[in-house]
Order: sequence, then structure tokens, then C-alpha cells
Amino acid sequence: MNIILLGPPGAGKGTQAAMLVDERNMVQLSTGDMLRAARTSGTEMGKMVAGVMDRGELVTDEIVIGLIREQLETATADGGFIFDGFPRTLAQADALNDLLDSEGQTLDAVIEMRVDDAALVSRITGRYTCANCGAGYHDTAKKPAKEGVCDKCGGTEFNRRADDNEESLKTRLMAYYKDTSPLIGYYYAKGQLQSIDGLAPIDQVKASIAGAMD
Ligand code: AMP
Repeated sequence: MNIILLGPPGAGKGTQAAMLVDERNMVQLSTGDMLRAARTSGTEMGKMVAGVMDRGELVTDEIVIGLIREQLETATADGGFIFDGFPRTLAQADALNDLLDSEGQTLDAVIEMRVDDAALVSRITGRYTCANCGAGYHDTAKKPAKEGVCDKCGGTEFNRRADDNEESLKTRLMAYYKDTSPLIGYYYAKGQLQSIDGLAPIDQVKASIAGAMD
């Protein structure tokens, strides 16, 4: 089953995708993670997109479509793919249709995680991840059981994203409403959209996603 998790930054797409990976053997395709990996490894593309990402703007369709094409051509996913942070424009949505078609795959559900804008600032500015295993935490909503120690791997180093600040968030939200939110109407018209309450507690959101998938 291939699904898209659609929602503004901070909606909880990454958190829910990680649980689907653990529990359903799915493969998460996050273009944000791929771009951050390209930056960390210092590739030409990584250098090119660094400033754009830090400002919270969208990188070009060509780059992200290329990243997804590469994954769809090479990765295997018994449980299916979760598209997280992709597509973000109508051109990307059309490209995804074509790519899935050419791989003989289908898109089974588009799950819109609805959240209130006011909640996004605190969600985003408080979040951080384990530098070792990538497990996600939050200053108030999801602290590790032992302060400073990752629950999952015992790591003691944590990272905060460079673009998780109020200034970049404004630009990212603007990009979401201007370029990405038209996808809600697009997938609704195609009969593929399911909307869920992304502000509910994590387990309830998880149950809603399961309901939408099953
Ligand atoms: P994310 O981790 O999904 O919040 O993405 C972080 C940043 O990577 C975004 O603010 C964009 O600069 C860039 N990015 C990630 N995915 C896309 C995409 N599908 N289209 C354009 N830019 C993207």
C-alpha cells in the first residue's frame, strides 16, 4: 500500500511515518530527509539547496522529483511506500502519478493531517532528534524518559533542525498554503483524499491513519 502523508510542517508526518515503518514494514520516502542527507555529505546538490532550505523555501521540482524517481527505481518496500513531504506542488503530484504508473504501482491513499496553525509554532520550535538514531523528541510534549538520553538507543547527542525557527517557519507555512494546499483539492477530486485530525494525541492520530488505510 502506497500512501501520502500531507500536512503543514509540524503536522506530525514524520512521527507517524516512523511508526508505520516499524509496524507495517513500510518504507518512508522523506524528501526533506534526503535533502538533509545530501547537505551533510556535502554533495554539489546538497550545497545548492542549503540556503533555500534554511530560508524555508521550496527547492526545485526537478531536484525532488529526481530524488523520488531514484528511490522508486531502486528501493523495494514489501509494505509499500510512505511519501512524507512529497509531493509539495501540483507538478510533483503529476510526476508522482507518472512514476508510480511506470513502476506498475498505485497510490492507495492520501491522508491529510489537519492541524491548527497556532499549534505549529510550539510543535516546531520545541522539537529535536537523537543524533545517533534519529528518534524524535519535544521540549515539552515528548521528553526522553531519562533527561539527555535517547529512549531508543541510549545516545546522548541531539540535533535541532536549522530551519526549525519562527522566521523560517513563516516562510515554510506560506509555501505550504501557496504551493502545497492545492493538492488537497486535487486529491479530493481524484477521490483519494482522507482527512484526519492531526492535533489529537499521537496514538489517536495513529488510529485514524490506520482507519484511513484499512
Ligand atoms: P521537510 O523536512 O519536509 O520539512 O523539508 C525541509 C525542507 O526541504 C523544506 O522546507 C524545503 O526547503 C525542502 N523540501 C523537502 N521536500 C520538498 C519538496 N517535496 N519540494 C520542495 N522542497 C522540499
